[in-house]
Amino acid sequence: MQDSFGPQDVNQAGAILSIDLGAIRENYRILRSRLTRGRCAAVVKANGYGLGATRVAKALVEDGCDTFFVAHVAEGIELERSIGRDVAIYVLNGVPPGAETQCAAAGLIPVLNSTEQLQAWRAAARRLAKPLPAALQIDSGMSRLGLAPSEVDAITADPASLDGIDLKLVMSHLACADEPDSPANALQLRNFEALRAKLPSAPASLANSSGIFLGGGFHFDLARPGAALYGVNPTPGKPNPMRQVVSLAAKVIQTRTLEAGAGVGYGHSYRAAGGLSVATISLGYADGWPRHAASRAFHDGVPLPFAGRVSMDSIVLDISALPPGTLGTGDTVELIGAHQTVDEVAAQAGTIGYEILTGLGSRFHRIYEGG
Ligand SMILES: *Cc1c(COP(=O)(O)O)cnc(C)c1O
Repeated sequence: MQDSFGPQDVNQAGAILSIDLGAIRENYRILRSRLTRGRCAAVVKANGYGLGATRVAKALVEDGCDTFFVAHVAEGIELERSIGRDVAIYVLNGVPPGAETQCAAAGLIPVLNSTEQLQAWRAAARRLAKPLPAALQIDSGMSRLGLAPSEVDAITADPASLDGIDLKLVMSHLACADEPDSPANALQLRNFEALRAKLPSAPASLANSSGIFLGGGFHFDLARPGAALYGVNPTPGKPNPMRQVVSLAAKVIQTRTLEAGAGVGYGHSYRAAGGLSVATISLGYADGWPRHAASRAFHDGVPLPFAGRVSMDSIVLDISALPPGTLGTGDTVELIGAHQTVDEVAAQAGTIGYEILTGLGSRFHRIYEGG
């Protein structure tokens, strides 16, 4: 099945983003098969890493995924509306003060990261006169979110501090999971074990995508992969065990032949040698292609280097490697796909696949394949 969605008519769009839901499902099954124990959730925050949270979640439900993580309450409410109450939806950033009633009404499960969030959620439970589900995050060493060891001790000392809380999960997050040799991983694992032993018993969760590849000791009861589902390599420096999910094709809007010495683009940072054939494509940094990301496109496997700087809405390509007349207005070139992965695009820009994916533009026409 192939269907389309997006703000842009395909005829008007400058670029087409294809999202292979079948590959996302296969990646979910690959990750699940790596687990020595426990279940596998899916992280669909930031609109499913930019690929469409609802579409992704609906596809994964088909493979038995029944637990999802978003970052914001609004993301959770939207997901709940579209996929319903048969799944658990955790909110990683917790509940902003004042949003407790709305969060509870939508059946969302906040990840409580601080004593403040815990107290506000307990107050909501008292107000609503019923226990409310929650996850507790403990900081095992990333120093980003979660209860400090002293706050965990305070709960141990006064178990009533969890009154009104239906504790569904105790979790923590790894800072260096993509660096398997980092001593931080074993240290965080030890801290997590020690801290969770002080809390009432509940299912535990530690591993993100890369954490799954650190070994069974990190798996616990629930894994929380995000990026790997979307094809980002969870084992940097080693072959990518995941299937490619995204392809991006940009349309040619003009072609021309340049005279020797012609300056191309802003700042004339590029000057044409004689008789240079170029094509201008309808995609630029406003579409999430950073100025210093990978600087070539492909046509039928032939690399086409960028000529000059990336503009806001366009890029000029040197197409002289192609036989004359190969590319004309309306034809497309590949920017992400079989010849150039999201990770490669990111590496050139000094960033990570996560940032490229979540930045991919709202102006693209989107095609979902293989739901
Ligand atoms: C984003 C996030 C994940 C998913 O991480 P990936 O590296 O994308 O697999 C898991 N847990 C928490 C707490 C997160 O913030």
